[in-house]
Amino acid sequence: MGTPRESHTEQAGEIVDRLEEAYPDSTISLRYSNRLELLIAVILSAQCTDERVNTETKHLFEKYDSAEDYANASQEELAEELSSITYYNSKAGYIRDSCQSILEEHDGEVPDTMEELTALSGVGRKTANVVLQHGHDVVEGIVVDTHVTRLSRRLGLTTEEYPEQIETELMEIVPEGYWQQFTHLCIDHGRAVCDARNPDCSECVLADICPSEKGDSEVDLASGEPW
Ligand code: SF4
Repeated sequence: MGTPRESHTEQAGEIVDRLEEAYPDSTISLRYSNRLELLIAVILSAQCTDERVNTETKHLFEKYDSAEDYANASQEELAEELSSITYYNSKAGYIRDSCQSILEEHDGEVPDTMEELTALSGVGRKTANVVLQHGHDVVEGIVVDTHVTRLSRRLGLTTEEYPEQIETELMEIVPEGYWQQFTHLCIDHGRAVCDARNPDCSECVLADICPSEKGDSEVDLASGEPW
């Protein structure tokens, strides 16, 4: 078991420093070339891998260009285009409805506030945070996905279980200048080393400060269950 730094703020700062060194090019892995494509890619990425989304959006973004194109597509046609994506039918509906609202209420442009974004169909705080950060350069919060949840709990930064509470706690301890990068670092480390089922603690740059480290700790603090 590693020994965490004395305060959560120090722990968070140390984690950011070490992960930045380990993953200097960490960034979003979804592919898009404008805000609308970003919004659509993020809606599609819920419970689906970025890799799968990138494969599907390649042809989708060639065929559909504007919010009007998506709003005017039939549900069947759009669902068919997305059929290899998890929950494709619901997501096709969210995209059509969101694009309808973007057309009617925002002159065809993806809005730039948390309130307006979360009013769109299928857009929660996580999706809105990604669109604000990468589409509008507005960093209002921290994107909390499954990797951020797992790593934050394993590393003793939070004991909360739900993304919104985790985000609130993280915003108090992660330096504000790293709110955006913190997510990408957790995702990279979660994919490369600290995966859900079998983290490779012996290869981890955080092992000596991680209270879940498998060598000594009997418990995975992410799940609260024994390793
Ligand atoms: S890989 Fe192991 S030591 Fe590293 S953060 Fe994950 S649980 Fe902790």
